[in-house]
Amino acid sequence: MAYYLEDQLTTPVLGVRRPTVNEYFLSSYTMSIYDGCEFGCHYCDGWAYRVRPFNETVRVAVDLPERLAEELETIDRGDLIGITALTDPYQPAEETYRLTRRTLQVLADRGQPCLILTKSPAVLEDLVLLERIHEQSLAVVVFTVLTTDPYLSTKIEDKAPAPALRLDAITELKRANIPVGVAFIPIIPYVNDTQYVLQSTVQSVQEAGADFMVWDYLHIPSERHRARVNDMLTRIGNYPPSYYRELYRNQPLPDETYRAERNRDIVICCDALNLPIRAPHSIFAERLKPQNEVALLLKHTAFRDNVQGREHMAAAGQKLAELVYQNKVSDAQLRESPLYISLRRILADTSDISPS
Ligand code: SF4
Repeated sequence: MAYYLEDQLTTPVLGVRRPTVNEYFLSSYTMSIYDGCEFGCHYCDGWAYRVRPFNETVRVAVDLPERLAEELETIDRGDLIGITALTDPYQPAEETYRLTRRTLQVLADRGQPCLILTKSPAVLEDLVLLERIHEQSLAVVVFTVLTTDPYLSTKIEDKAPAPALRLDAITELKRANIPVGVAFIPIIPYVNDTQYVLQSTVQSVQEAGADFMVWDYLHIPSERHRARVNDMLTRIGNYPPSYYRELYRNQPLPDETYRAERNRDIVICCDALNLPIRAPHSIFAERLKPQNEVALLLKHTAFRDNVQGREHMAAAGQKLAELVYQNKVSDAQLRESPLYISLRRILADTSDISPS
């Protein structure tokens, strides 16, 4: 069990609004509930940013919900808050402190949209609060699932709830009409990136009833983390260290060709099973600030354009998304988009668009 350090907040809960909307998690603000994560998954980049072991000391800012309530008064009600930053909100500390529950209460009192990223079915214990938020705006739960193989899961995330429990929780949440996604994060080269693993994971997620899936690749932000990852790979089994050296070339992400190939493979798997590769528009339509809704639509379309080789359109879509999100777009710029009619309809009531 971790050591819990009770504390008061010394920095803002939300910080500044993101310069761009997060296309995976729909968020304009990102926050964490606890500082440190007792699940301590071996690949997690949380280890890279801590001096003390990431899973042994969990800092609990007991005044976080009250501070959040104050900060919410200063932000737009259509901006979604992603409880997604580098610690799990339903790690064991939640049983003692209920800080996540108190945070959801604050969000529910204001009807602020939110998205929770977790590995734990304990999120079901807060279903009533999620339903309250969703009635007023939008509440989404995203489960991290990076394998459905229990043996592999115990090698890389042994303290987190088993993948099968997460898949069951997806089905439960869907029964309650709460939108649910899956974050297939991280894709770890040579570990969970084979065609078989990709296909079987996508299939299990789709069968559990998830609304969408997003994915990203193993980040190796520092040499210290590289050493950790190498240890983990050695524990999993034989792997050629030269493969990682060539793939990463001392960069935090695997090379672009590798990512482009995997992106294509996953899109093909998801399309075959009719599983959306980003949160579908129907989930967030009219539930967020119109500019955010439009920026997300543009970014999601741009991602598919990019995967399918339409790089020029993808770049234009991304740029337009930024302009809309920052209220700096003109009607002439919007007309450049093939989605113009839909975008204009969503933005109909906003007065921040200049005619040219
Ligand atoms: S549950 Fe998430 S935040 Fe916690 S250690 Fe695992 S990957 Fe990191």
